[in-house]
Amino acid sequence: MEILFPVTELSPYAKVGGLADVAAALPKALRQLGHAVTLVLPHYPGLDEHGLLLARRLSPLNVTIGDKTHAIAVYSTRLSSQVDAVFLDAPGLLDRPGVYGDASGDYPDNAERFALFSKAVASLALEWAETGKRVDIVHCHDWPTSLVPFFVKEAFASKPELTAPKTVLTVHNAAYQGQFEKTLLPQLGIDWKEFSVDGIEFYDKINFLKFGILRADAVTTVSETYAREIQVPPLGHSLEGVFKQRKNALTGIVNGVDYAVWNPAVDPHLVARYDAEDVTNKGRCKGALQNELQLPFDPAAPLIAFVGRLVPQKGADLIAEALPKLLRSTEAQFVFIGEGSDDMVSALAAAVAKSHGRAVFVRGAQEVLAHRVFAAADFVLVPSRFEPCGLVQLYGQRYGALPIVHATGGLADTVIDCDAQLETGTGFTFDEPTADALVGAVQRAVAGRSLVRWNALVRRVMRLDRGWERPARRYERIYLREPLN
Ligand code: ADP
Repeated sequence: MEILFPVTELSPYAKVGGLADVAAALPKALRQLGHAVTLVLPHYPGLDEHGLLLARRLSPLNVTIGDKTHAIAVYSTRLSSQVDAVFLDAPGLLDRPGVYGDASGDYPDNAERFALFSKAVASLALEWAETGKRVDIVHCHDWPTSLVPFFVKEAFASKPELTAPKTVLTVHNAAYQGQFEKTLLPQLGIDWKEFSVDGIEFYDKINFLKFGILRADAVTTVSETYAREIQVPPLGHSLEGVFKQRKNALTGIVNGVDYAVWNPAVDPHLVARYDAEDVTNKGRCKGALQNELQLPFDPAAPLIAFVGRLVPQKGADLIAEALPKLLRSTEAQFVFIGEGSDDMVSALAAAVAKSHGRAVFVRGAQEVLAHRVFAAADFVLVPSRFEPCGLVQLYGQRYGALPIVHATGGLADTVIDCDAQLETGTGFTFDEPTADALVGAVQRAVAGRSLVRWNALVRRVMRLDRGWERPARRYERIYLREPLN
């Protein structure tokens, strides 16, 4: 199949969260199954700094919205994964750093930016079809590309002699919906007749995600549990009725891990590599990190890590609240990496300041450090209040850092609580997103480390196969399936 893959993040070029990792890995896995995938992204600044050689097409793609026609520059390249990528540029609009915004918040014209991008994707698909290049599937992701299914249908409706591609929308997080004032509608290139309960309207506002869920031929989300959770409050974030309406077309597929990138056996960022057959070097990674972050050098101290966005969803405030108790009741050391709102950053920093050097907080996007932290850690903590899929627990498992998670969404689907003898299970779970429940699970996990079966457990978890082949095959089945209501 020929698959067009419009998305707004791509690791390592433009990464905000897990979407970037998925955009890099899923197309690669689909390619390995024999499909041709072309990623389509905004032309972010700095792509060439990463060594990408881009070819600029001579003729622009003309996209009309309202009474304005934009000449969209089209760049193309082939990524090192051998996946093709196209970058679209509307000067001043798409080529901005930070994907969705900068330090002062989201860009105020994101509705226009991503509507233009989405319409350009539809124009590209139509242009390809007109020139005899088949497009079977357009696979969109999250609210910024949620208008693509509508624009694709609209574009192909004007050319009935061409076969319209099937559209798939993957919801990576239902909390981000792209809601805007209705007065913007004409600037998005959408007719007022679409502003209805069966269309883009949502409580008298525009809602990108809702429109995508209704217009896509198939909708997926990133775990089976989350697919159920979003059909009821509160995790549908008011779109539960819309998800329910499309429940026959809605499938949950847990994300995979790209073991070419997240794998202690080949990871170039580690001082020493290791795998499930020989874990000895993991101790060296721990010593090196303790040294790098000026933690007490102590191979025996359990090292517990958190890597994630500092937003209420991720429960970083629960960690700040629990930290004094965790320090008192265990010998553990803590490493936190994250970026986020000022209040969450200062809450975490304040708790860390009182740890007498046993906890470290590194603020910011620290991609390379994250690899070293997973390798050094005995545990990764993922206390998310809700979690569509979550990648950190999957990375932790491969690096032998056992996940301690709130059993919700994808965390519940990928972490099975260990029994008291550590004979079964793949991590430690707790049922309520509270500081007390978190402390209880950490104490249980840390106690498990002194049991004889501990090393066997770590090795068993490191051997779990969470690669992308299986999820990619499930997406393939969705692509092939007849559209469902
Ligand atoms: P989400 O997409 O909701 O942010 P995921 O767990 O799906 O959460 O993916 C998060 C990804 O972002 C992981 O690859 C994680 O390692 C990475 N990450 C998050 N925050 C940081 C940070 N401050 N520095 C480096 N990597 C980070």
